[in-house]
This record gives sequence, structure tokens and C-alpha cells, in this order.
Amino acid sequence: MVVVMSPDATDEDVAHVVARVEGVGGEAFVSKGVVRTIIGLVGDIDSFHHLNLRTLRGVADVHRISDPYKLVSRQHHADRSTVWVGREGRQVPIGPDSFTFLAGPCAVETAEQTLESAQMAKSAGATILRGGAYKPRTSPYAFQGLGVPGLEILAGVGEATGLPVVTEVVDARDVPVVAEYADMLQIGTRNMANFGLLQAAGDAGKPVLLKRGMTATIEEWLMAAEYIAQRGNLDVVLCERGIRTFEPSTRNTLDISAVPVVQATSHLPVIVDPSHASGRKDLVVPLSRAAIAVGADGVIVDVHPDPETALCDGPQALLGSELRELAQAVRRLPPIVGRVDAGSLVRTV
Ligand code: PEP
Ligand code: MN
Repeated sequence: MVVVMSPDATDEDVAHVVARVEGVGGEAFVSKGVVRTIIGLVGDIDSFHHLNLRTLRGVADVHRISDPYKLVSRQHHADRSTVWVGREGRQVPIGPDSFTFLAGPCAVETAEQTLESAQMAKSAGATILRGGAYKPRTSPYAFQGLGVPGLEILAGVGEATGLPVVTEVVDARDVPVVAEYADMLQIGTRNMANFGLLQAAGDAGKPVLLKRGMTATIEEWLMAAEYIAQRGNLDVVLCERGIRTFEPSTRNTLDISAVPVVQATSHLPVIVDPSHASGRKDLVVPLSRAAIAVGADGVIVDVHPDPETALCDGPQALLGSELRELAQAVRRLPPIVGRVDAGSLVRTV
């Protein structure tokens, strides 16, 4: 941490800052410039925070040098992590050596629709099935998801197709039941900063897929991941799903640069959701190609056997030619960037 003193700070002001820092066991290194004095602090950053240094007389600014997150930072864990999703006997990796294709319906609507979606996903090469039983809808009048019956359908289809399942949880009270059925808990964009939910998900003993808040900075997103990690759960996968900008052509703006930015600073895997980022099925394939090229650890895509009748997000769901094109992209492109299909690394013990 560095404290920048204002040009009119007195020697007493500087001495007071030094005394406060030393009072909590820190060290202060004073560097006097022609106009300003700066003070470098070494020690426990949390104890410096409690000093409210900005409020001290003569202090112009305080800068932190290290990341505000710890457990999810590469300063804590230098090598990039792999998160394994699934039960004993079949676990799919999401991490730096592989490329993981997750697909499924936006929402679980019926057993038939979920099974058909899962079969489409599997034939296209997906190794993890997605599907929402609790839907965080903007309108309270829109389809809210089937709840527990939806979880039962999803788990049954996962079992039948051999695909681990990821599903969203929107309320901390539902975490135990969702964790009972799901192999991975999803926290959606609207709940990224619901800290009680993050902590409950962190306690559930299952990997967590943490989507980026639609107005969250990367630092805020990683701090949200830190809430989960702090509960002793480092099995967190980040998902870039587009952010709100002034551009109306797409539902959100996919922040493709977030992928390498996150990978440089955090060891957690990061995947991309081109379906929710764009809201348009014609953009899902090009954005998936971009995600693979930029080094994402996977993509998660909406599919539906009949998008016209979908109860949620039909316009972005793939079937037919787009899905075939996507299948080709996720088969051919990852090896070019040095990644193997996650399906070939499945842990069967
Ligand atoms: C979803 O994946 O079903 C979803 C609601 O995504 P997001 O939270 O990114 O909008
Ligand atoms: Mn959706």
C-alpha cells in the first residue's frame, strides 16, 4: 500500500501516519520528493484498512498494490486450477488443459424437452448438461421455472445421458435441495453480488459456476468468487456472459477481453456464455469461435428442440445447422490453441 501526502502536508502529518502504521505492527518507508512525500507500507493490509488512512490530516490518496482478493488470486495459487464436475465415476474437467462444452436448454420445461435437448447437446459434443429449474426472470409474470420437479427431471436426464448437470440457484433457502440434485450450482448474473447466496453456495460442497454480474467490474466479480472461496470451496468456475453497454444490437456486450484479464490475475477457470451475451442464435457460433481463440476454458450454450415454443430465451437457442456448425467449431478449434476435448480427460474413478 502506498500513501501519497498532499503538497502542504507537514512533517508532523507524515510522522502521525508513520506512527499509526507502526502502531498496528506495520512498517512505513518515507520517501520525500520535491513537491510531495509518499509513504510505502509493508505489513498486514487488513490492519491498514482499519486505520482509515484517507481521513488523516495531510493524506491526499491511498493506493493498494496487491489484489484485494486473496484465495482466488494467482498471488495465492500461481498455477491455473482445474475444477472437476460430476459424481464419483464420471467427472468432467474445466481447466487450462482442456476445452469444455456445456449445453442444454435455458429452462427445464418438460421431461421430453429436457431429454431431447440433452441428446442434441451430447451429439454435438457437450460433456456437461445445463438447464434451469429456478429462473431469475426480469418479470414476475414470466415463467419462473418448475422448481423441485424441474430438478428431478434434470437429474434424471443427466443420469440417463451420462452428463453431469449444472443448474441455477436463485435463493439461499434452495441451496440444499439444488445441491442434492445438481453436480454444479450456477449463480446467475442477477445474483452475483448476493453475498448470502454466495456463502450458502460456498457451503454446499459442490462446484459453483459464477456468472459475471451484468454491471460488475472484473474486480467485483473476483471479489464475489472470493466469498465462495472463503467458505472453503475453491471449486469455482467463472463465466463471462456479457455486460450492459450502450449498444442495443445484442442483448449484452460480450467482454471477450475479460477472459485473458481474469486468467492473468486469477487461477480459476473461466468460460464464456455466448447465448446470454448476445441473445441471438446467429451470433452464438462466431462468439464461441472467439471464446476458443482467446483462450476460454469452455463455452456454455443454450439449445432447444423447438425454440419457437421455448418458455425462456427461444431466440438464442440453437438447433439444426447452427448446432452442427458449433459442434464442428468446438471439435476443430481447441486443438489449434493447444487444448484437448474435456470429454477425453473424464475421470472415471
Ligand atoms: C442462464 O444461464 O440461464 C441465465 C439466466 O444466465 P444469466 O444469469 O447470465 O442471465
Ligand atoms: Mn436464459
